[in-house]
Amino acid sequence: MQPKGTIFSIKKFAIHDGPGIRSTIFFKGCPLRCTWCHNPEGISPAAEIMVFPDRCLKECADCLVACPKNALKKRGGTIFLERNKCVGCGLCALSCPAEALQLAGSRVTVNEAVYQLSKDTAFYRNSGGGITCSGGEPLLQPRFLQALLTACRRQNLHTAVDTCGHAPFSDFEKILPLTDLFLYDLKIMDEGQHRRLTGVSNRLLIKNLQKLSLLAPRLAIRIPLIPGANDSAAATAELADFCASLPRRHSVHLLPYHRGGRAKNKRLGQFDSLAETRVPAPAAIQKAGEIFLKRKLTVKIGG
Ligand code: SF4
Ligand code: SF4
Repeated sequence: MQPKGTIFSIKKFAIHDGPGIRSTIFFKGCPLRCTWCHNPEGISPAAEIMVFPDRCLKECADCLVACPKNALKKRGGTIFLERNKCVGCGLCALSCPAEALQLAGSRVTVNEAVYQLSKDTAFYRNSGGGITCSGGEPLLQPRFLQALLTACRRQNLHTAVDTCGHAPFSDFEKILPLTDLFLYDLKIMDEGQHRRLTGVSNRLLIKNLQKLSLLAPRLAIRIPLIPGANDSAAATAELADFCASLPRRHSVHLLPYHRGGRAKNKRLGQFDSLAETRVPAPAAIQKAGEIFLKRKLTVKIGG
């Protein structure tokens, strides 16, 4: 039987997730809990409802009728979700005429995913693009990932995997022959700081990157620049030293923090821990880039 996977989105015409025009498939579930995550709906492996209260129609109560768990309430003409009662069945989202409730997370077969992804093959061919598996963390669903990449290979689609690196290396080995490009996220070299800001140690992902550096056909390192987390000169130099120490040279993509995840946190009923964090100033981004350039690394700003 074909393995199924849980995804929360397929983004068409993506131009920041690898070369050319791509379709990016977002896997649901991640072992990290980065405070700055811009896809917080990808963290939990379970389906969950995103609430857009300002879209809720005053006189409507369709979702209250549809919900089998009595998890929705209306107060002052707008909608509230009691998340402890919600089982993520998605019936409310299906019934809502205003898209005020949206389900993040659906189960798909490999064939269903490939059918969607292969629709834009002409664009991939003409632009040197392909498909990118992102998330969340694709390697948290290793069987589905492997089967999906295998199916894409059969269709001669260029494949990229965007990973946080926190997965058994044996799972990387299984997808190595199926992956044209790894986009490997690297955040902070200090282990304690990494644990504090992402919820896990960085030892495993560092070890995996050292091994993949030699084995991957192509690999780019993606580093988010988060003010107050990893943007000090010392922290940036540590990251640059590590990149320069790898067995092979890889291009480094610096991804300046943006506030896109904040509105999503609100829709998921989550605490906004970055309310005070500003986006990095252009001068700070340039300074960070120079630290990598000094070590003769190729640097790109953005994905
Ligand atoms: S997802 Fe299901 S359980 Fe949750 S609020 Fe909607 S209808 Fe109710
Ligand atoms: S179905 Fe949509 S518009 Fe109607 S009450 Fe529920 S959230 Fe509001």
